[in-house]
Amino acid sequence: MPKLFAPNTNSAESVLALLANLSDKPVRVCDIQQLAALPTTAYFETYLVANEETQSSFMVYLDRCYPEKIQEAVFFHEVLHLLLKCEGFPQIKINLSFASALKPNLRESLGKLRVHFASVIDHHIVFPRMLQLIGFDLSEYFDVQVNQKKLRLDRAREPNHIIRNFYAQQDILVGLEYLLCPEPQRNRILEVFKDKNPAAHSCLTGLRERVAQTTTKRQQTCFTLQSKSSPI
Ligand SMILES: [Zn+2]
Repeated sequence: MPKLFAPNTNSAESVLALLANLSDKPVRVCDIQQLAALPTTAYFETYLVANEETQSSFMVYLDRCYPEKIQEAVFFHEVLHLLLKCEGFPQIKINLSFASALKPNLRESLGKLRVHFASVIDHHIVFPRMLQLIGFDLSEYFDVQVNQKKLRLDRAREPNHIIRNFYAQQDILVGLEYLLCPEPQRNRILEVFKDKNPAAHSCLTGLRERVAQTTTKRQQTCFTLQSKSSPI
């Protein structure tokens, strides 16, 4: 299995050490194009990173087109997702037996929807933890995140109104998640939404106010409860 970079940087070692406290499974690094080549996970083609737990290991799929520093940051980020899972943080699952009545194109989007829901919840913990622990400037990493979201909102307009509404709702989830970015990138994300999808922008700003109220109670989350007794 090809390695894209040896995870022997200080940041990789530190986050792998945290994971090793909770699991014996090794972390293997692979090319995300392996996932994109499969019909069920083809949507990963546009993703920067993904992870998967198998019986014997954790898999982290990276996009090797990015500079090594970006890959280092996304590796760190993804191991934080795995760490959260090992800490017992709730996971989003979709019961496909309830999806048989859906149109095929909606049913095929469920995997992607699961990833969006999981991201918007996990990232309230993963992004602050990443900024706290990684030890180097993440501006470039967050710039890549903003550019990815711009590309998403620039995509061709979907002709089917049901699918279009479905995508618009996902846009709101994506926007909520990236409002967790540092301020310069957060402001750019808001500008992009205002320009490309004004309806999603107004939902987003309203929801953001509600989310901001809940995140003031972040000390109640699984991560901070765990970290009180950990060395970090
Ligand atoms: Zn993530």
